[in-house]
Amino acid sequence: MTIEKTDTLVIGAGQAGVAMSEHLSKLDVPHLVLERNRIAERWRTERWDSLVCNGPAWHDRFPGLEFKDADPDAFIPKDQVAAYFEAYAKKFNAPIRTGVEVKKVVRNVGRPGFTIETSEGTIEANRVVAATGPFQRPIIPPVAPKDDRLTQIHSAQYRNPGQLPEGAVLVVGAGSSGVQIADELQRAGKKVYLSVGAHDRPPRAYRNRDFCWWLGVLGEWDAAAMKPGTEHVTIAVSGARGGHTVDFRGLAHQGITLVGMTKSFDDGVASFQPDLAENIARGDANYLSLLDAADAYIERNGLDLPEEPEARKKLPDPDCLTNPLLSLDLAAAGVTSIVWATGFAVDYSWLQVNAFDEKGKPKHQRGVSSEPGVYFVGLPWLSRRGSTFIWGVWHDAKYIADHIATQRKYFAYRDAAHRASTSA
Ligand SMILES: Cc1cc2nc3c(=O)[nH]c(=O)nc-3n(C[C@H](O)[C@H](O)[C@H](O)COP(=O)(O)OP(=O)(O)OC[C@H]3O[C@@H](n4cnc5c(N)ncnc54)[C@H](O)[C@@H]3O)c2cc1C
Repeated sequence: MTIEKTDTLVIGAGQAGVAMSEHLSKLDVPHLVLERNRIAERWRTERWDSLVCNGPAWHDRFPGLEFKDADPDAFIPKDQVAAYFEAYAKKFNAPIRTGVEVKKVVRNVGRPGFTIETSEGTIEANRVVAATGPFQRPIIPPVAPKDDRLTQIHSAQYRNPGQLPEGAVLVVGAGSSGVQIADELQRAGKKVYLSVGAHDRPPRAYRNRDFCWWLGVLGEWDAAAMKPGTEHVTIAVSGARGGHTVDFRGLAHQGITLVGMTKSFDDGVASFQPDLAENIARGDANYLSLLDAADAYIERNGLDLPEEPEARKKLPDPDCLTNPLLSLDLAAAGVTSIVWATGFAVDYSWLQVNAFDEKGKPKHQRGVSSEPGVYFVGLPWLSRRGSTFIWGVWHDAKYIADHIATQRKYFAYRDAAHRASTSA
C-alpha cells in the first residue's frame, strides 16, 4: 500500500489553517490542509445565530481581501465571515481537503517526520502545524449544579432565545459572549441574571475611532504577554446592533440583574461572590485608562479628532450594583436555565509528540514548538495579544511559514562531496 506524503501537513481549516496555507503557498512549500468539517466550520455552526464580528470589517480581515459589498465600519455577520474564508482559500487555490479528521500524529522512529492517522488513511509529513483553534473544548466549571430541572448549555451551544425553556436565565460569564447573549435574551423578553467577573471593557469607539484602531496605534494588540494578574480578565465588547460599548450599568437599567462571580449551588440556591462592585469598578478603570491613553496620543500627535467629553459620563449605579444579590433561590426566581459563557480549553490528545509541558500546555516560542517539526498557530498569546484574532493569526502564520521554509533549506543542504558525486 502506498502512503500519501506531503512536506507540511496543516490540521484545521479555520482562519489559522487558511492563513498558514497562503503563506506556505507563497514560499512554495508543498503542503496539505486537512479539515474534519468545512472551511471555517466554527463560524458556521459553533456560534449563535445573530453573532457578528466584534471588530469592524476594515480590521477583522486578512490583508489580501476586503469583505465584498460591506461598509468598512460595519460588523460582519458570522455566515459572511465563513464565506469570506472560503472565498479567500479559493483565491489562491489552497490545497484544503475537507471532511477528513486527524486522529493521531506520532513522530517517526529512526527517520525524520511524522505519521498521521486520519479518518481516510495514513499520511506522512516532514512537519505538522496544529491549527485546530484556540477555543476547542467548552469549559463548564465544576460548580455547575446537577439538577435535572435546569437546562444548562455552554455559550458554544447557544443559538437563539427560542432554544431555552420558558422562565428566567442565569448567564454565567460576562466576556463578549456572555454580555451579548444576556442582552439578546433580555431583549427577547426573558428575565436575565448576569454573573460578572473581572473584565476589560474598552469603549466601542472614542473620538471617531473604533477601539480596534486605538489598540492598534497604542501598540496594545502587539503586547507580547498578559500583564501579571490579568490571566482571568476577559474582554467585553460587542459588534451587535451596529456596535456599542458594553456598559454594565446600561444592561442593568435595561432590566438585567447583575450579580458577582458564581461561587456555588446548594439545594437549588446559587451563591455569588461579593465582588460585583469591584469587578465593575475595575472594568470602569480599564475603560477610562483607554480614553486617557487615546487623549494623550491625540495630543502628542496633534491629531484633529473631535473631543468627546460625554464618553466619561457614567449612568447612575443600579440597585443590583449597590445592593448586590449574594444568593438566589433559582426556583423561587423562576430560573429554568443556565448559559455558561465560561470559556474554552484546547484538546491536543491526538498530537502525541513532545510539545507539551506537564500540565498539557503547548510548549512553543511564537508557535515553533519544543518538538522540532511541530508548530502551533492560532493560540491565545501565541506571539502577542492579537494572536487569536483574524488579522493577528495571519501575521503569526507568516512567521511560522518562514520558519518552515528555512528548515527546508537546512534539509536541502548537500555537502561538497555529495554535490560532486551527484554532478559527476
Ligand atoms: C464567539 C466568538 C466570537 C469571535 N469573534 C471574533 C471576531 O469578531 N473577530 C476576531 O478576529 N476573532 C473573533 N473570535 C476569535 C477567533 O477569530 C475565532 O475563535 C476563530 O474561529 C479562530 O480561528 P482558528 O482557525 O484559529 O480556529 P477554529 O476556527 O477553531 O478552526 C479550527 C478548525 O480545525 C478543525 N479541526 C479541529 N480538530 C481537527 C482534527 N483533529 N482534524 C481535522 N480538523 C480539525 C475544526 O473543525 C475547525 O474548523 C471569536 C471567537 C468566539 C468564540
